[in-house]
Amino acid sequence: MADNKRILLCLAHMSGQEMKYIQEAFDTNWVVPLGPNVNAFEEDLEKLCGQGKKVVALSAGTAAIHLALVKLGVGRDDEVICQSMTFSASANPVTYQGGVPVFVDSEADTWNIDPNLLEDAIKDRIAKTGRKPKAIIPVYLYGMPAKIDDIMEVARRYEIPVVEDSAEAFGSRYRGQLCGTFGDYGIMSFNGNKMITTSGGGALICPDEEAKKKIMFYATQSREPLPYYLHKEIGYNYRMSNICAGIGRGQMTVFEEHLAHHKHLCDRYVELFADVDGIDVHTNYDERSDSNYWLNTILIDPAKTGTDYETVRQHLETCNIESRPLWKPMHTQPVFSGAPAYVNGVSEHLFSMGLCLPSGPWVSDEDVERVAREIIACCKK
Ligand SMILES: *Cc1c(COP(=O)(O)O)cnc(C)c1O
Repeated sequence: MADNKRILLCLAHMSGQEMKYIQEAFDTNWVVPLGPNVNAFEEDLEKLCGQGKKVVALSAGTAAIHLALVKLGVGRDDEVICQSMTFSASANPVTYQGGVPVFVDSEADTWNIDPNLLEDAIKDRIAKTGRKPKAIIPVYLYGMPAKIDDIMEVARRYEIPVVEDSAEAFGSRYRGQLCGTFGDYGIMSFNGNKMITTSGGGALICPDEEAKKKIMFYATQSREPLPYYLHKEIGYNYRMSNICAGIGRGQMTVFEEHLAHHKHLCDRYVELFADVDGIDVHTNYDERSDSNYWLNTILIDPAKTGTDYETVRQHLETCNIESRPLWKPMHTQPVFSGAPAYVNGVSEHLFSMGLCLPSGPWVSDEDVERVAREIIACCKK
C-alpha cells in the first residue's frame, strides 16, 4: 500500500518557538532547575487557570501528586481514595508516603469516579477503620471531565481534601472552568505524549501563594532560608529545569490550536462511526462537559460488531496504525492486590471493550479516515 506511513497514538509536536527560549537559557547560562523560563512558564499556566490560582512547575506530574500528598500530611497507613480506572501514576505516590490507596470505580458516562460510590466508600472506611481517608484523587480520564461538582460536594461534606489528577485533561473544562482548578490541588503533566510537552515535566496548581511557597520548599530539598544548609523536614528534588520550561513556553504558543485539532479529530471519528452499530466514540456526556479529547477512545461491542478490541488492535498494527487498550483498572493490578476497592463493574467492562485511537496534531483527516476504514473492515457486515 502506498499510503502506509505509521500513524502514532499521540506524538509531541513542536511549535518552532521552543528553540528561542532554550537558546535564551543557554545564552544567559540558566541551565539549572530554576530560572526565567520556569517563572514565565508558571505565569502562562497561572493565566490559563485564572481565579488567583498559583502554579509550581515540577519535574513530572507524578511528582506533583506526591508533593500534594506530602503537603496534605498523608503518612504511614493513611488511606487515600483513588479512581481505579486510571494510569498507575495516580496511585503510586500514595504508596511513596507509606499510605494505602482505596480504589473506587467509575460511572458509565464519564468513565471517572462515581460520586455515589465515592460516598459509600468514605462511609465504609470510617466504619471499618474509625478514620476518614486523608485525600481524594479523582481523574479526568483521556481528558473527559469528571462530575467534579458532585465529587466536591461529597468531599466538602466529609471535609476531605481533593487532589485533581488533570494530567490528561490540560485545557478541558467543566461548566467553563478549567479542570484542575476545582479542588484543593490539581496536577498537570507535560510528558512527551500529553496535550503539551516539556519533554518530561508537570505542575501543581495551588490554592494560594502560601501553598505555592511550601510546595517550592519541598521541591527544593526543604532547605531552610539560611546561609548554611539547615533541614527540618524531608525534601525532594522535583523542580522543573529551565531548559524544559523553555519547551513549555514554546508549546503554550500553539496550545489552543492543538486543542482545537484534538476536538476536530473527535468530530471526524464520530462522523465516520455514525452508521456502525456497536462502535461508540466516547464524547462529552452533557453541556457542562468540554473534553480536550487528548486521546479519542471507542468502545467495541463484540455482540454487535462480531469483533473485539484486541482483534482490532492487532489488525491496526498490521496496517501500521498504533492503538492501545484502555487503562487496566488499578483494583485488578497485581501490585495493588491488597488494596481495598469499591467496584460496580463499570471500569472492568470498559477495559474489556475499549481502544484508544490516534489523536493529536500529527494526525490528519486522511489518517482518521484510514483508521476508521480499517476498524470497520474488522466488523461483520
Ligand atoms: C501521565 C499521567 C500521570 C503522570 O504524569 P507524569 O508527568 O508522566 O509523571 C498521572 N496521572 C495520569 C492519569 C496520567 O495520565
